Amino acid sequence: MISGGYKISSIEWGDFKLDGGAMFGVVPKNLWSQKIPSDEQNMIPMKARGLFLEGHNRKILIDLGTGSKDNDNFKKRFAIKNVKSPSEALKTFGLSPEEITDVIITHLHFDHCGGSTIDFKGKTYPAFKNAKYHIQKKQWDNAISGKSRDSASFLTQNFLPLFENGNIVFTDGENDLDLKNISLKITSGHTFFQQHPLIEDNINPVFYCGDIFPTSAHISPKWVMAYDNHAEKSVEEKRQLLEQAVKENWIMFFEHDPLIAACRIEKKGRSFEISETLSF
Ligand SMILES: [Zn+2]
Repeated sequence: MISGGYKISSIEWGDFKLDGGAMFGVVPKNLWSQKIPSDEQNMIPMKARGLFLEGHNRKILIDLGTGSKDNDNFKKRFAIKNVKSPSEALKTFGLSPEEITDVIITHLHFDHCGGSTIDFKGKTYPAFKNAKYHIQKKQWDNAISGKSRDSASFLTQNFLPLFENGNIVFTDGENDLDLKNISLKITSGHTFFQQHPLIEDNINPVFYCGDIFPTSAHISPKWVMAYDNHAEKSVEEKRQLLEQAVKENWIMFFEHDPLIAACRIEKKGRSFEISETLSF
């Protein structure tokens, strides 16, 4: 996929599972399980799927999955499997982790930024030591406060070493990313100041859904997660994004969908549906 002057490829960082009920909030199981069936413990399969962009003299990663620093109990709880190391993931592109120039983190929940850091000889370091990590300041402040409803998902070993090693460039709102043809959309329904990169292109604009549309089943505005801090806000933010997505023919890239990496959408009456699925 070419978009905004970048060659764009998806990276599957690994697999994990989350409770299907938590993923679909008030949606009845007999509806959501038709889209993504659950196992005997009501868990549904999830991908940790990120993006790699190469162009304009930059090599950029967007979100990094769970990483593999967690202990066995944690890995078992979330059925974390098939985690790729940074060097394994980048070998496909003939690159090493040192060559990554930029990392955009949508938000600091463990399944999005766990791969930001790696353990080496009892210490934790940035996994991409020469990269600038672009993180929203308000999301950061919220994460380190330890006071928000989603505080259990913020594990400091995934992001404090980035600060200690001077790798963070804080972003402040929508127009604050110094990367060609990439703007940011901000949502706060799921978590405070989540940033979603939008790769701007006349033909193939790519929108990085992160956790506002974690899977293609979440396209329906009212299908929001019980994990979301503010469900009503998520519904409103999703409607606005969907209207723009249809109008500008966005490619929606899903971080967690077990099967569908990306799609375009169309509006039918008041509802939004997949018009074309894509993979790249
Ligand atoms: Zn999240």
